[in-house]
Amino acid sequence: MKIQCPRCKAAHRVDPARIPDGGIHARCTPCGARFFIRKKTPQPPPRPVATPPPPLTACANCEQKIGKLEPRHKFRSHIVCHECHQRLQQVERPRPAAPEPVQRSSGDNARGSSLDTFRTGLPRPAAKSQDASPSRNGGRPLGFRDQFLSFFSHDMAIDLGTANTLVYLRRRGIVLNESSVVAFRMINGHGREVVAVGLDAKRMMGKTPSNVKAIRPMRDGVIADFEVAGEMLNAFIRKVRRRTPFFKPRMIIAVPSGITQVERRAVKESAEQAGARAVFLISEPMAAAIGAGLPITEATCNMVVDIGGGTTEVAVISLGGIVASRSIRIAGDEMDAAILRYIKRKYNFIIGERTAEMVKIRIGNACPDETNPERIEVKGWEVMSGRPRIFWLNAVEVREAIEEQLQAIVEAMKMVLDRTPQELTATVIDNGIVITGGVGLLKNLDQFLAETTGLPVRVADDPLSTIVMGSGKTLDSAALFRQVVDV
Ligand code: ADP
Ligand code: MG
Repeated sequence: MKIQCPRCKAAHRVDPARIPDGGIHARCTPCGARFFIRKKTPQPPPRPVATPPPPLTACANCEQKIGKLEPRHKFRSHIVCHECHQRLQQVERPRPAAPEPVQRSSGDNARGSSLDTFRTGLPRPAAKSQDASPSRNGGRPLGFRDQFLSFFSHDMAIDLGTANTLVYLRRRGIVLNESSVVAFRMINGHGREVVAVGLDAKRMMGKTPSNVKAIRPMRDGVIADFEVAGEMLNAFIRKVRRRTPFFKPRMIIAVPSGITQVERRAVKESAEQAGARAVFLISEPMAAAIGAGLPITEATCNMVVDIGGGTTEVAVISLGGIVASRSIRIAGDEMDAAILRYIKRKYNFIIGERTAEMVKIRIGNACPDETNPERIEVKGWEVMSGRPRIFWLNAVEVREAIEEQLQAIVEAMKMVLDRTPQELTATVIDNGIVITGGVGLLKNLDQFLAETTGLPVRVADDPLSTIVMGSGKTLDSAALFRQVVDV
């Protein structure tokens, strides 16, 4: 069997007998690229073409003339005589053509440990279990049973972000956009009950009495508190699933590309507990690229930088796979913490997390006007006097505070570009680098990144919902689903 390396295009021969049924990870010996090889299933012999029956001239039973016969029960696949109701002829119904099997290869960030097939030929570890959910229906995302159930249930795409959770329902679009926050009340120090989720819970942050806690169950893009995350997901899903409680939906969830197998499992289990029939994961940069409308299946450099609350995901995508990527746990939340630290260091003032975020959103600017910067009034707590005070902060100071985080993002972008084959990097000028995620709304961020990298940079149209839109598009298209969803 001939295999071509997706990166250097070198051709290799692999003995098909050495490829296990579930496929195998391989490494190209000349260039070191890793990719996944699927076993080619032998094609079934072509179906014999049925010779059409001779045209009818008259009913065989009552000898009614053909001119008066009509195919009455076409949907039941036969023609019936009008006069005597005798079944006369089978009607061939057109069959949908079977889809071409897709040879899928993934890039540097292929899941699990990669093995050099050409050297070792070792089979992939049997980690498929539920992680490879589509394998339950033979690798096809929509079997007949699934199609039937999907008709009644609302399959959903979820962007389970550190800061915001968005839900997209098939045939309906984005139906939920809430903060990823849960507030619960402790009962006698033992049990607890959820009092609010989403935006209502976020408003409570930092203002709750001692027996009520408002927390964010997601940290750094992954589940930090499994139980609370499950409750939050449950509450959101209940909100959008009111009308179809009996049919469980399939869910596709966007996760950071750098998360561990344990973290992937935690996301899947949370969704299963929240009532999912099957859970699929898609990496955030892939969903972001699809949502931003990049031509991900073409052989060009599609570079996306998703800067959310907990993580920044940088990836180059080509031919439907991730060629190179990097996920760093520095993003909007780190910027808020940096503003908080800066104010404490410079003015000896303490402000809350929400105030720091508000400062970033209101006057944050990657290239502020140094002569006449924007200013904002901030309410804080003076450490020395121990009293609440009001002070003024300007955009240049905020820029100074978040300098380290901006540089970390630039470094990640440069690293990914370095790891991308030069042939591909040369095409980045065509599509430009696309910024998604909430921090993409930081003023002049595109200008700053374009100046530091020397490449064209643009912000996606609606950076906060690009990932969920991309995951939703994947849910709607079976071909895209097969190509990009992690199995
Ligand atoms: P996640 O996917 O992790 O939930 P999002 O993509 O929803 O993150 O982005 C949330 C982050 O974007 C937060 O840190 C928030 O403060 C930040 N953010 C939202 N709007 C703006 C803005 N106008 N300027 C700067 N940062 C913003
Ligand atoms: Mg996000």
